[in-house]
Amino acid sequence: MATSGSKCRACKAPAVIDLPRHNANFCADHFLQLCRRQVDKAIDDYDMFDRSDRLLVAVSGGKDSLAIWDLLVEAGYQADGFYVGLGIGDYSDESRAYVERFAASRSLHLVTVDLRDDYGYDVPTAARAAKRKPCSACGLSKRHLFDRAAREGGYDVVVTGHNLDDEAAVLLGNVLRWDIEYLARQLPVLPAANGFPKKAKPLVRLTERETAAWCLLRGIDYLVEECPMSSGNRHLHHKNTLNAIEQASPSSKSAFYLNFIDKMAPLLASQSAAASGDVHDCEQCGSPTTTELCAFCRLVDTASAHEPVPVELVLGRRGRR
Ligand code: SF4
Ligand code: ZN
Ligand code: ZN
Repeated sequence: MATSGSKCRACKAPAVIDLPRHNANFCADHFLQLCRRQVDKAIDDYDMFDRSDRLLVAVSGGKDSLAIWDLLVEAGYQADGFYVGLGIGDYSDESRAYVERFAASRSLHLVTVDLRDDYGYDVPTAARAAKRKPCSACGLSKRHLFDRAAREGGYDVVVTGHNLDDEAAVLLGNVLRWDIEYLARQLPVLPAANGFPKKAKPLVRLTERETAAWCLLRGIDYLVEECPMSSGNRHLHHKNTLNAIEQASPSSKSAFYLNFIDKMAPLLASQSAAASGDVHDCEQCGSPTTTELCAFCRLVDTASAHEPVPVELVLGRRGRR
């Protein structure tokens, strides 16, 4: 990862990684220290949580979620994992195995839910039954289940592994559309409100290359394969665009996102359409909602009544678009 013969900026030992955005190379120890400092800074700057809070970390088996779970546990936070089985063919089987291996290797507590076993549907079936894009059905399901698991388990904060590349790509998409409402809510921490738990993204100061390097150096085995539903996702195009800009002008990506958070987001605070009005308990599941049945329960009703749809069918349909 580093040019041969390059030296660590901090100790002059042989470097294992070059970080153009910091204009420096680092040995393994000093790179790991840099990652810890970046996560500490995000937690402190954005007032995410402290060591008295119980954290529920949403884990997928990929590098980012396992890296943040590892970083938080190493730093002494009370962090349990939460995994949702999405029923996306082999991808889901493998992702679950990676998460379970990681939790077992460190004796960590893992809470699991399986859409098919517990709710009678999976993401491909929900997409077909509700005529939604798979990522939309998946996102709705995951958000609901994270919130519910936090509420029922008495957790203070839901933590996700979104990194700087993810957040900068979403920001670029929102800026290209000048979607003020989304921009106003695109924050690294969202407070608890209306029965929904606090949410935090402590990896926003680290890139995906850096979280991959963290896993490599810490011996964390993660699922490299992306979800098959992610192909064609417009965030991937935005990531590639930002990577091209970053290559020509190192540190542009972090400046784009972090300066937005520091300088622009406060100006947009009043634009955030906070869920207002009549928030009450869903008649079926008890979750906060503004309608009789929450969107998740409506999805469960539709999807669980539909015959199972194999993942290949949904992928095939996407491929023909
Ligand atoms: Fe879910 Fe889409 Fe992510 Fe796959 S790519 S895990 S379907 S949100
Ligand atoms: Zn060093
Ligand atoms: Zn409900």
